[in-house]
Amino acid sequence: MLSPPERVTVLELLASQAAISLENALLYADLQRENSERKLAEEELRLREARIRRLVESNIIGVFFWNVAGIATDANDAFLRIVGYSRQDLLSGHVQWATMTPPEYRAADARAIDDLRQRGSSPPYEKEYIRKDGSRIPVLVGGALIEGSEENGVAFVLDLTEQKEAEAELAARRTAAKQAEEQLQALQVELAHATRVTTLGELSASIAHEVGQPLGAIVTSGEACLRWLGRGEPQPEEVRACVQHMIGEGRRASEIVRRIRTLTRKAAPRKTQLELNDVINDVVALVQREVLNHRVSLRLELDSGLPPLLGDRVQLQQVLINLVINGIQAMADIGGDSRELRVESHRDSDGHVVVAVQDSGPGIDPESANRLFDAFFTTKAEGMGMGLSICRSIIEAHGGQVWASNNAGHGAIFQFSLPSISEAS
Ligand code: ADP
Repeated sequence: MLSPPERVTVLELLASQAAISLENALLYADLQRENSERKLAEEELRLREARIRRLVESNIIGVFFWNVAGIATDANDAFLRIVGYSRQDLLSGHVQWATMTPPEYRAADARAIDDLRQRGSSPPYEKEYIRKDGSRIPVLVGGALIEGSEENGVAFVLDLTEQKEAEAELAARRTAAKQAEEQLQALQVELAHATRVTTLGELSASIAHEVGQPLGAIVTSGEACLRWLGRGEPQPEEVRACVQHMIGEGRRASEIVRRIRTLTRKAAPRKTQLELNDVINDVVALVQREVLNHRVSLRLELDSGLPPLLGDRVQLQQVLINLVINGIQAMADIGGDSRELRVESHRDSDGHVVVAVQDSGPGIDPESANRLFDAFFTTKAEGMGMGLSICRSIIEAHGGQVWASNNAGHGAIFQFSLPSISEAS
């Protein structure tokens, strides 16, 4: 049996033993954790090194090691292939990367070095190297300082030759496509002009009549004027009325001449803000006589609240002339009393401006329905088959659509829709 003081000593001893072994256990655990952490870090480093080595050795991209003196200290085969130097050339220290750089890229290099100093790496940038044979090669370069060093770094280099060639080819193709498009546009202008002139030729009898009428009226009024002046008693009011009539008729004639002149102009398309109803009225004035000669009754139903649109006035006039003349021609073989042409404008639910030209002819033959707008498609003995194809290219160049259908009753209806100015801008 231990005496109480002895018991205390033993307990103290046991307690200190326990404390020591506890401490040891904790220390051991710490050590183990440190060990495994170090192992993990080492493993990660090893993996990273292996990955980098694989990247360097795979020679997919050029890699070179450099020092701040501007000397490439080592490089992989891919880099040597890019710049055309041998490893000996490089290791001799004579080849400095600055000397491989054309003067215009020195500033970009200096910026990259600044980035390296400040952030330890530089974002990739495009430059060129001067190869050993003096030729140039486009590359993408990025670099980083080696960890823990301010003197040494690594850089990767990607050969951009193929990419640049592809870019150059693409640019050349784009230029060629643009030139072809310009040529096509010029041809379309020529063609549109030629067909306009042809149509006007067809209309020449009507136009001559249209201009002839006011001229005849001017002559008649002039003669009346002379008669009034020749009377003993001057009649200034009568003379004034005659002269005013002459001025009015003169204006009418010159207006017709102006319209014809615009149509015969061969100008590149020019879009301005315009009201489609004005274009319709212009065309109606030009074809008025044609309509009368063919005993067609023309009905206009124009929506006065149409929004303005952006378009080429002459081209849109041409579209309307084609549609109206086609309508008149389609009704040539039907009875005189039932030749009706209706030109209508309205705004559709999408806010587009729509024009419809409706006739009471035989309608569209279902067999030719899907070829109407093809170039050179015609069912007329003297037809060119260009009218509707030109209409379509003009309307599409204005961002619109043109289509044809048959009326529920009889005849055909040709319609086109165009975006209003607020949609186009
Ligand atoms: P063209 O008038 O020289 O024949 P278009 O391209 O203007 O050339 O018209 C092509 C064809 O479309 C016409 O030949 C005709 O068969 C048909 N067509 C055009 N407008 C109408 C219409 N209003 N009614 C019936 N068919 C039409």
